[in-house]
Amino acid sequence: MVRDNPRYAFSCSAFSPHTFLIIETHDVYSEHPYIYAILRPETNTILLIDTGCGGVSSRPDVEVKVLRDFLETVDIPSNHDRPLNDGGRFGYIVALSHCHYDHILGIEPFCVGSNGAARIVASSYDPHFLSPTHLPEHSLCNFLHIRLPRYTPVLVPHFHRIAAPSTSDGLQDLGFTVLHTPGHTPDSLAIWDEKESVIYIGDTLYEEEPIIFPNEGSIRDWLDSVDFLILFIKDRQVGQPRGTVIRVSCGHATAFKEALPVLQGAKAFIEAVVSGREQARTRRFKRGEVNAEYGQVGDRFRLICPERLVKEASGALR
Ligand SMILES: [Zn+2]
Repeated sequence: MVRDNPRYAFSCSAFSPHTFLIIETHDVYSEHPYIYAILRPETNTILLIDTGCGGVSSRPDVEVKVLRDFLETVDIPSNHDRPLNDGGRFGYIVALSHCHYDHILGIEPFCVGSNGAARIVASSYDPHFLSPTHLPEHSLCNFLHIRLPRYTPVLVPHFHRIAAPSTSDGLQDLGFTVLHTPGHTPDSLAIWDEKESVIYIGDTLYEEEPIIFPNEGSIRDWLDSVDFLILFIKDRQVGQPRGTVIRVSCGHATAFKEALPVLQGAKAFIEAVVSGREQARTRRFKRGEVNAEYGQVGDRFRLICPERLVKEASGALR
């Protein structure tokens, strides 16, 4: 485990021999985004889920700030003391859980390289939302006065299977399914890894840190997406070998935990907010809207969102 080494902007720990959690530990935005690297050595491919904040660290002594450099040059004890992508021998596929800045700012170095540019996968649910005209605003880069990184994603449909190029017949299935899960943002997606029985859900929800909706979010859509994910997981559980636990990993705070209790707990909390049983504790103005905060430090689930989204969702319940 590379834990909080002051030389690196990232820490890295293993969930399994081929699945790793990388945390950007001291980003200046205090987002501490979770990035996942999943190796498929049999296809010479590495799937990266999100790319973090670009390595801009609050610590002055950080030497390795670029995620791609971290993956290709830093020895990881839980990977036999070798870098996860030693010398860049694996080709990259980058899946973006959504377009917020803390998930895309590390992407540019993957768009070039001797080993070919990465294929970048994003949701096709709402192409307008991801259009070059709107992305500076929807990524929150405008709000934070950050330059939008240059990248061109391939927009993929619901239930898209991620494949890698193969030498013989064109494409090789990697065992990942992309699922559209609008709510946090219209382009939010989840990735189901059927080999490791893990579902990656980005910022849809997580524990302890506040679940956040921007102005462009929808709690109504979120409730539908979480219901869909719960059903999807229950369906997959039927086919699992006895004793297999399906786990959930998120864009912040929660990784590799038993999926159903996390999803069902978050759903119950958001429903309590929408029904008025959970009251706002504080309010503040952000990006032109009144945002309310529900829950408090120490609670398993918390929420910060425009109050309008709660009203819209409660109106839909009636
Ligand atoms: Zn987000």
